[in-house]
Amino acid sequence: MSGTPYGKRMAQAAVAAAQTAATAKKVERVYNFNPGPAVLPLPVLEQAQRELTALPGVGMSVLEISHRSKTFDEILAGAEADLRALLSLPENYKLVFLQGGASLQFTMVAMNFLPKDGSADYTHTGHWAEAAIKEAKKLGRVNIAASTGPEFSRIPRQDELKLDPQAAYVHFTSNNTIEGTEWFAEPETGAVPLVCDASSDILSRAIAVGKYALIYAGAQKNMGPAGVTTVIIRDDLLGRVPAGLPAMLDYKLQAEKKSVYNTPPVFAVYILRLVCRWLLENGGLKEMERRNKEKADLLYAAIDASGGFYRGTAEKASRSRMNVTFRLPGEELENKFVKEAAAQKLVGLAGHRNVGGIRASIFNAFPLEGVQALVAFMKDFQQKNG
Ligand SMILES: *Cc1c(COP(=O)(O)O)cnc(C)c1O
Repeated sequence: MSGTPYGKRMAQAAVAAAQTAATAKKVERVYNFNPGPAVLPLPVLEQAQRELTALPGVGMSVLEISHRSKTFDEILAGAEADLRALLSLPENYKLVFLQGGASLQFTMVAMNFLPKDGSADYTHTGHWAEAAIKEAKKLGRVNIAASTGPEFSRIPRQDELKLDPQAAYVHFTSNNTIEGTEWFAEPETGAVPLVCDASSDILSRAIAVGKYALIYAGAQKNMGPAGVTTVIIRDDLLGRVPAGLPAMLDYKLQAEKKSVYNTPPVFAVYILRLVCRWLLENGGLKEMERRNKEKADLLYAAIDASGGFYRGTAEKASRSRMNVTFRLPGEELENKFVKEAAAQKLVGLAGHRNVGGIRASIFNAFPLEGVQALVAFMKDFQQKNG
């Protein structure tokens, strides 16, 4: 074990623990461009660290408390209240915290809302959209309303969508984490309920929540750690949930039980709650949008100013503000780029293994200074290798 990187880190941690607080060296953080689990706000990590062994006034770690305790009630209520405030969520929407990641939502959405004799419209814009389609197809009929494959370098235009007015719902993936494209306007679906996988851009900007019937998002991109998934459901939809679903997969039951049908991921909800607090204290979603746009604009400008050395993979109008994807002239150079960037504390820049290239994930908690450092590195790298 001690030979593996994990084992080594464990050994290092043991050594660090043996040092006194006075001599312990402050661990330096890198710029973390990972796509998820991803960077969290440092003040959140520091608070969690301070409170880890004993929550103030409780004397127990959040890892040790009961999910039926008053303390957890408060954490859960706080998370919900802050999320509602951030999203300006109307009263007629339920908010639940579930497990199983966004991937289980691919199944749950179809299981709860795709009737045997009906069909649902899905937009196919990349890897995660495809995964959602694949799961829905196991449970019912799926109509592909639009596909931008095989390149997936853009979001479909409204006039390309072949929507079925009888569809049970329309599903779209608001940010394509792997392909680096993002919907900046929701598909117009008329009276058909709109369902969104917002895993990688939820809370990155204000949205018109009223347009949505259901939003789901795994927390580990832009909201917190892995292990908790946020689901927002409009009340009227819950009336469509068929009887007899497995309890854990039944939105209606989960909503009635207010996220504590069974033991929820207590620690993940606690961190999510701290992240929401941090967002509110930092100006909410309007300010996040401003910061995210500033960061993305800076990076895309550097790509566009490189005379073709760096090539953005998404069409300009569809460029994601969360995941900036680009290529270099050749895979060898891309590998070198990733390696040399990491040596300068710019970590996690390799594109998804399916598509290759470079991907800089710059979620809410990713600082502007990190993007500035990447841009400086890019200029330097081009000078040496261009
Ligand atoms: C990461 C991701 C998923 C998968 O999330 P899990 O929580 O690992 O199931 C689904 N959709 C999108 C858009 C993602 O970015």
